Order: sequence, then C-alpha cells, then structure tokens
Amino acid sequence: MKAIYFDMDGTLAGLYDVPQWEQRLNNHDAMPYCEARPLGSMKKLKKVLDKLIELGYTIGVVSWLAKNSSYAYDWRVRQVKKGWLKKHLPMVSECHIIKYGTPKRRYCKIKDAILVDDNADVRKQWKGETIDATNFNGMLASLERLCYND
Ligand SMILES: [Mg+2]
Repeated sequence: MKAIYFDMDGTLAGLYDVPQWEQRLNNHDAMPYCEARPLGSMKKLKKVLDKLIELGYTIGVVSWLAKNSSYAYDWRVRQVKKGWLKKHLPMVSECHIIKYGTPKRRYCKIKDAILVDDNADVRKQWKGETIDATNFNGMLASLERLCYND
C-alpha cells in the first residue's frame, strides 16, 4: 500500500490569493477556503491521479485548520474544505483536516507515502519522500514522473 497525501492551502487551493484571507480567517470566517480557486489545471491533475490510482496509490489530503481555532469554527472549516475537495478533487479517499501546526505524518493511515506540500518546513518535518508544490506545473511534472518510475 502506498499513498500520496496533498496539502490544500498553497498547494491545491489558492487561499493566499483570496482578498483579506488572513484577516477573515482570524475573524472565524471560513468562506475564504471556499472562495479559493484551484492553483492550476484540475483536469490535468485528475488525469495524473487516475493513473497513479491505477498503479495502486491511495490519494489523500492532510491539511491544517486555521490558526485561530474554536470547536464551531473548526467544524465549519472542515465542512468547507471537504466541500472544496468534493467539487475539485473527488478522488480523494482519505482526508484529515487537523489542528494548525501539528505534524502531518501522525494522521496518515498509510506510512509508505509521499507528501505534496508548498511549505518547506512541513516537508522537512515529514521525514520521507516529498514533492515541492510551490509551483503547480512543477508538481504535476513530479507526479507524472512517479507514473513512469513505478
Ligand atoms: Mg500549504
């Protein structure tokens, strides 16, 4: 069993391009997560992921909640993030929306896994194979290479 776990904000979703996203999140407004546009072609990403699923990969997401957290706000953020994934990347079969700042590997069911993340510190903390997602097309190219290396 092997898996690829994606981060969301800054990797798949353009949260940081939403006007006043930070101020709004701090005010417990979950909607910037909904308004975030995909950072690149989801059609191309889905095509690569379909191939990887055929090769036996599980596709998962492990994403942090907002910094400012409360029980009700966290619940809304989870709903909105899951809605975004359902709309843009329905092949995600394992999804963890976890407390801001916590190590991501802890939550992933499959340990033989690659983390796709735009945050260099998070990639370092993963202690395993990672793909840098700071450039969406670069990330796509890395995923495509996985299809041929297998
Ligand atoms: Mg990120």
